[in-house]
Amino acid sequence: MSEALLNIVNLNAGYGGIPVVRGLSIHVNPGEVVALLGPNGAGKTTTLLTISGILKPIAGDIQLLGSTTIGERPEKIARRGLAHVAEDRSLFFDLTVQENLRLGLTGNRETRGKAQENALDMFPALRPLLSRRAGLLSGGEQQMLAMARGLASEPKMLLVDEMSLGLAPIIVERMLPIVRRIADDTGAGVLMVEQHVGLALSVADRGYVLAHGELTLEGSAQELRENQKSLEASYLGGESH
Ligand code: ATP
Repeated sequence: MSEALLNIVNLNAGYGGIPVVRGLSIHVNPGEVVALLGPNGAGKTTTLLTISGILKPIAGDIQLLGSTTIGERPEKIARRGLAHVAEDRSLFFDLTVQENLRLGLTGNRETRGKAQENALDMFPALRPLLSRRAGLLSGGEQQMLAMARGLASEPKMLLVDEMSLGLAPIIVERMLPIVRRIADDTGAGVLMVEQHVGLALSVADRGYVLAHGELTLEGSAQELRENQKSLEASYLGGESH
């Protein structure tokens, strides 16, 4: 899969040398939104943490833009074009929206200005809030800021972990099309972990389902949407009892 932005081959990942994700092979192409689905504890967050280099893979390979990231530190992987919007959003609550955004910027002054403008164009609701402290934002605004900060680094590959966590469904419904736009307008690949299967598949091109650390189902978003039974079975399929 040489054209893939992200290509994961036979990955074992976990904690203290004990794999919680086993034999995982998935890929994301340019401009694609790919949903990584599965029940609690399936290993979705572990997979994202391993892709961004925060966790060291136990075995297998992760290729970003055609070359391996194995052995590289998270900062290096980020400089190569990977942004990770973590589940906890990792914002600095005492800093303003503007200051949080600046932390995502790379490059020289001119390109930074443009990158910030582009990020704010995707999330215009943040413009009137630039001087507000991040800690005073609503949950939805905080998620927008976390996404905008990820976008400000002009990533080629964007990882989004549980964007919907703690947000009202109406806010999630408003934000998901923006994920689609990011992929369409910038050509970035997006790998999105999501509990809301229906919502995720409404904007994704493809999906993978993990259960108990193993891939149990994959397909186009349409196939997965149309085949609710396989989808439900795949959630249960990994049950060991
Ligand atoms: P959720 O939606 O609940 O976050 P998930 O699919 O993202 O689920 P992970 O968070 O990747 O799942 O967890 C996978 C497994 O790894 C779980 O059994 C979890 O208990 C275990 N795990 C997670 N973090 C650690 C850790 N720091 N040390 C040891 N085990 C962990």
